[in-house]
Amino acid sequence: MKVVNNKSFPELPVTIHINPDRCDGCGICKDVCPVEALNVINSARRPGKKLIVVDPQLCHGCGVCQATCPKEAIALPGLGPDEMREYIALAIAG
Ligand code: SF4
Ligand code: SF4
Repeated sequence: MKVVNNKSFPELPVTIHINPDRCDGCGICKDVCPVEALNVINSARRPGKKLIVVDPQLCHGCGVCQATCPKEAIALPGLGPDEMREYIALAIAG
């Protein structure tokens, strides 16, 4: 049974946005991404600082990285980190 149809929620290309001022390059998000869309790099602007970058061709906007980032450095358009954690908690609770 299809509960949600594409007319109500059209499938738009969704990818995350990373705030480089918040990200400390810890790599937690990279470890949880199911499609290996994230990579840790050295910052070109700030020597010694690490950053995360996303491959928009691979990212499908699942939001797992956003929910796990301890710095709240990842934004998913239309879905805040608190809402995502709430959805995950509901899903775990069954
Ligand atoms: S989990 Fe957050 S702080 Fe850590 S690398 Fe990813 S975006 Fe940066
Ligand atoms: S939103 Fe999902 S697919 Fe995209 S980078 Fe984050 S964990 Fe990976």
